[in-house]
Amino acid sequence: MLFPYKYVPHTMDRMQRFINFIFYQVWCRAYKAGAFRLELFDGNPDLKEVMKTFYYSDNDNAYFFYGHIERIYGMFATLPRADIKQFKRWYQGNNNVEKVCDNDPALHLARYADLPPQHEVLSKQLASFFTKLYDNVDIAAFKKKIGKIDDHYKAFMRENTVGKCPFCGLSDMLGANHTPREAYDHYLPKKLYPFNSINFRNLVPACHHCNSSYKTTKDPAFNPKDPTRATHRRKVFYPYANSTYNIELTIDFSKPDVDHLTTNDIQLAFGPPILKEEIETWKDVYSIEERYKAKCCSGDAKDWLEQIRILQDEHGIAPGASLNTLQRQTAVAPFANSNFLKKAFLEGCQRVGLI
Ligand SMILES: [Zn+2]
Repeated sequence: MLFPYKYVPHTMDRMQRFINFIFYQVWCRAYKAGAFRLELFDGNPDLKEVMKTFYYSDNDNAYFFYGHIERIYGMFATLPRADIKQFKRWYQGNNNVEKVCDNDPALHLARYADLPPQHEVLSKQLASFFTKLYDNVDIAAFKKKIGKIDDHYKAFMRENTVGKCPFCGLSDMLGANHTPREAYDHYLPKKLYPFNSINFRNLVPACHHCNSSYKTTKDPAFNPKDPTRATHRRKVFYPYANSTYNIELTIDFSKPDVDHLTTNDIQLAFGPPILKEEIETWKDVYSIEERYKAKCCSGDAKDWLEQIRILQDEHGIAPGASLNTLQRQTAVAPFANSNFLKKAFLEGCQRVGLI
């Protein structure tokens, strides 16, 4: 990830607080709270109002929410206390996205695949609820309480103004001046992880290619290539990190012929070393090497080189001076016009003798 997002608090965060209440105050207390009923939500009047609306409604969304919450309550009611404690640890672990990304060994992370076989029926109900929760949240009963996801996106983009996808740095993001919006990616995929599908620390706007062409349902927290399999956790960039960092990119070519460049002629190197593990995960999840190499073989890259030639031949500006201007401009605006990639590409051209 080239740069982190700024987290933007919003009324949509209330939805995660509703889910927290349902999990801790309703499901985890089911063993001692008797039959499922609306009074179980007395401690959260807004949520109780929503549940009451669902109870008296016969539309599909109402049935989806009320039905799942009630069925899962019934299953939690029969769980031994030790199992409830373990579910609480998994819930906390899956929702602490920052520590998941940091690969904190003390964290209890759980995918559906990790839940023990005795919880198979419960696991299926949780999967059915949490995977569809995000898609069903934009309904009237919730909108009155938490707002609309389109409004969240607008507020988010007013604070996050780079205008480029932070995962690739290549694509423009739809923003305040566009009518439609980008999709939110579930960073820890909702098909794999219970409990965090409406947690906005796990929801990140991403460009269509990053979200739907490359990442899809890849799991950033586990390395699929690790032969040990049992301990193949890995670090990954936390999308809402407070600290900033600069990813260093170096591009080298094995032949000085940009007109006939193929991806096999390009070598990419990334730094700094202190972020090696996060960078490796990022490259794997978003196929960064493939996409940056493709850009180097594109018409854009040929035009970058041509601009340097024109400035020299028609205006007498030495390539070194043009490159120097680009380096200074990249330090100011690394992601405008793919400057970070253009600079690395032209520096590589200089080293191989093309300029
Ligand atoms: Zn992207």
